Amino acid sequence: MSMPATSPTRLLITLARAAGKAATSKFRGAGWTPEYDLWAARASICERCPLQVVKCGKSYCGQPLLRRVIRDPAVDGCGCPTIAKAKDPTEHCPITPRHEPTAMQGPHRIGCDCKWCDATRQPQILPAAA
Ligand code: SF4
Ligand SMILES: [Zn+2]
Repeated sequence: MSMPATSPTRLLITLARAAGKAATSKFRGAGWTPEYDLWAARASICERCPLQVVKCGKSYCGQPLLRRVIRDPAVDGCGCPTIAKAKDPTEHCPITPRHEPTAMQGPHRIGCDCKWCDATRQPQILPAAA
């Protein structure tokens, strides 16, 4: 299988983003940055997703990023750890409920067509106050 062509710049940007996400996740674990309120609902969607990969007891959206740096997130997953991704209020799932690439990544639950935002708009998942 051939790898898609890419530039060193793109590789560096991808790796820098991953390092930034990992650092933010550590801050979130320490309580310094907020968790997304419905992260457990997101994480349970990942557990049922065919793109989910478990490596060394940890769940990832597709193969971990460093195993495949150049990827199409809608096909390969984004490579992020799913729990940390689910807890990040700025994150979205890369696919729709029909497993197509997302068309937009708008405000959470409102404009976004990703699998997570679609599911967390459902009344049985939304908290009573939402
Ligand atoms: S973020 Fe989306 S594509 Fe990735 S494992 Fe979770 S549900 Fe699947
Ligand atoms: Zn979304």
